[in-house]
Amino acid sequence: MRSELDGTEKFLWKLSDGEMIESVLIPDQGRLTLCLSIQVGCPLDCQFCATASVGFRRNLTSGEIVSQLLEVQDRPLTNLVFMGMGEPLLNYDNLVKSIDIMTSDLGPNFSGKKITVSTVGIVPGIYRLAEEGLKLGLAISLNAPDDELRSEIIPVNERYPLAELLTAAKFYAKKSGRRITFEYVLIGGVNDSLECARKLSRIIQGIPCKINLIRFNPGAGQAHPPPEEEKVTAFRDYLYPRAPAVTLRESKGRDICAACGQLRAAEDDYSA
Ligand code: SF4
Repeated sequence: MRSELDGTEKFLWKLSDGEMIESVLIPDQGRLTLCLSIQVGCPLDCQFCATASVGFRRNLTSGEIVSQLLEVQDRPLTNLVFMGMGEPLLNYDNLVKSIDIMTSDLGPNFSGKKITVSTVGIVPGIYRLAEEGLKLGLAISLNAPDDELRSEIIPVNERYPLAELLTAAKFYAKKSGRRITFEYVLIGGVNDSLECARKLSRIIQGIPCKINLIRFNPGAGQAHPPPEEEKVTAFRDYLYPRAPAVTLRESKGRDICAACGQLRAAEDDYSA
């Protein structure tokens, strides 16, 4: 299915055991990015994410991960991001195996520099990935500037609190030579205050990074509102130039539930 707004395409794949996953093709300023799923559903329970409502069904095999790329390899792909359904660092072995295949010159021969892995902060996985020496991009869904709020939005923060996560991020940046992307989904009335922006600018000091601000996309079964535009602007304007780089990402594919945090592999999304 294709977005009328921006040409984003969403694919629903049925696996051999009948489970469903989605991947998304996102055209943007000359780039064509494929967003891959890594699990059927997700065991984590992030408050801004529709995948969480699916619950955890199972990990994808490396073959199922690579197949999402092979199915669209006739397109002029420029980037791969592991930001679809599931937490990549909780399916670690199949993540790394699939990247090995995708970057092999016997296979799709994709450049590791064009691949980004996104995590909500599985700290041991970040250290492991740093040691692999693959020099992949790493995106961390931060979404809150202190432990109290972050644990509400991303419950796994209780296990891997911010101080540990930020230390791991710094290590990854040093080891890979690449700056970290911190994703920050602005949720109306939850994490979009100037006080949050102030705290955020303080905690990322000393980490080579950029911050991607994303407006929350209300999806199925989610109670939170999107942020007000003035708050989004004020948040961004406070952060930059206090943070090294700040972008306000336009969420693509909103009309087909393909935007950030909206994937849930529901067949009825496709029946319209
Ligand atoms: S944001 Fe990622 S880790 Fe959190 S529930 Fe959604 S898919 Fe899982």
